[in-house]
Amino acid sequence: MKRILSLLLALCLLLPALSCAEDAQETPRRVVYLTFDDGPKKDTPELLALLGELDVPATFFLVGLSVRAFPEYAKMIVDAGHAVGCHSMSHSYSRLKSGTDYVGRDLVRFTDLMRETVGEDFSTDLYRFPGGSSSYASRTKTFVRDQGYAWFDWNVMTGDAQYTFKSDQEMLDYTLSQVRGQDVIILLMHEAKERTRRILPELVAYFRENGYEFRALSTGGEDRAILASCGARMMLPETAGE
Ligand SMILES: [Zn+2]
Repeated sequence: MKRILSLLLALCLLLPALSCAEDAQETPRRVVYLTFDDGPKKDTPELLALLGELDVPATFFLVGLSVRAFPEYAKMIVDAGHAVGCHSMSHSYSRLKSGTDYVGRDLVRFTDLMRETVGEDFSTDLYRFPGGSSSYASRTKTFVRDQGYAWFDWNVMTGDAQYTFKSDQEMLDYTLSQVRGQDVIILLMHEAKERTRRILPELVAYFRENGYEFRALSTGGEDRAILASCGARMMLPETAGE
């Protein structure tokens, strides 16, 4: 009898620990990657100040011609510690669709420009296709990957470049309606969109309240593991040793 009792006691002690371990396995990691395209723009400093206040990292997909127009803002983005990716030199769909030779030259020109602008040690392995990847040939998409770049679309957007909203609330509702319980989110936004800047504090608060952490895109092992469960279209280069 004593033995049975002590067995029961051991079971009672063990069960909560077991269910706890199960919970830990079943709770997926929630991550949101904030991304801003098409900059730098005239109001980049305001956006950087806001991100600083909110204490969140972001990824900026910059356009070469905009970097030329606002070189000091490109440097501010890098100096603030945000991730920077290539969004092409001129955002020209027709040129980028003309062939992989052009795309290859475009990647080199972007990196050269950034090195002249922000410092020789600049490099990036992040890319976003202007307009998103879906309208590009699959050979172009694998070419970018084979040049050593990870390219990313998105699975949630504020719609700031696509739609006109009547109110901030309408944009906020539209954005959050796409979240639908997804655990890993790449959120597409654009620079120089006042409404996006206005709703950003509420978006950040929503994600914080719902257990999301904020990260900048990268091709490091931790982000590869997180991004493996993200529904956005993307292609990552293989890493050495994998
Ligand atoms: Zn763009």
